[in-house]
Formats: sequence, C-alpha cells, structure tokens
Amino acid sequence: MEDCLFCKILAGEIPASLVHESESTLAFRDISPKAPVHVLIIPKAHYANVAELGAADPALAGEVLAAVDAVVQKEGIRDAFRVVFNTGPSMGQSVFHVHAHVLGGGTAGFGAV
Ligand code: AMP
Ligand code: ZN
Repeated sequence: MEDCLFCKILAGEIPASLVHESESTLAFRDISPKAPVHVLIIPKAHYANVAELGAADPALAGEVLAAVDAVVQKEGIRDAFRVVFNTGPSMGQSVFHVHAHVLGGGTAGFGAV
C-alpha cells in the first residue's frame, strides 16, 4: 500500500532491525523503545487496525499471536510481557498498518506506548 510506513519496511525500502519473520508476519524493533524490549509485529498483509484484521482474516490474526510467542521466546521475556494494539488516533495509533507492540524486560509495568 502506498505511503504506508510498515509496507515500506516490508518492501525493504526503509531499514528495520528484524527480530523474527514468518511466512505471513514480520517483527522488528520499535525505533523509539518505551521498554527494554519493545518489538512491533505486523502481518505482511495490510489492514488498518486489529479489528479489521480480526474481521477479515482471523487465521492471520492468530499468526500474529504465534509471532508474539516466537518473539517473547527469542527476547527471553516469555514469563512477563505486555501486548498492545493502539487503535485510532485518540488511542495513540500513528501508523495505520496493524501492529502489536510487545513490551517487556526490566521491572516496570509499561503503560501507554
Ligand atoms: P502506534 O503509535 O501505536 O501506531 O505505533 C507506531 C510505532 O511505530 C511507534 O511506537 C513508533 O516509535 C514506531 N515507529 C515509527 N517509525 C518506525 C520505524 N521506521 N521503525 C520502527 N518503528 C517505528
Ligand atoms: Zn501497510
């Protein structure tokens, strides 16, 4: 999709620090981390937000959750982490390609991202 930052990362047009890749998902480090571990997971198909993804392709939504497991294992935070899907500008969404924020590490509770 044109002018989508995360589609450009998927296309290799913008660099990212990759953490995990599956056939249908990509995980990379947030450029402005709000926690010691702050990874974003996106489906390779473009959906604007988690509700649209879940409605259109529940299996792909499940693949995003499988990627959560892969990421928390790789990052060593499987016992304690938070997953956030900001949805809508008033809830802090700034990139309109659905993404799971995976936050963890350290001892803080990590609120809004
Ligand atoms: P949200 O505000 O929930 O839409 O989350 C978007 C996230 O993307 C923010 O946490 C940003 O720090 C992050 N971000 C913006 N540009 C990049 C980039 N080029 N690479 C990695 N993360 C980015
Ligand atoms: Zn996109």
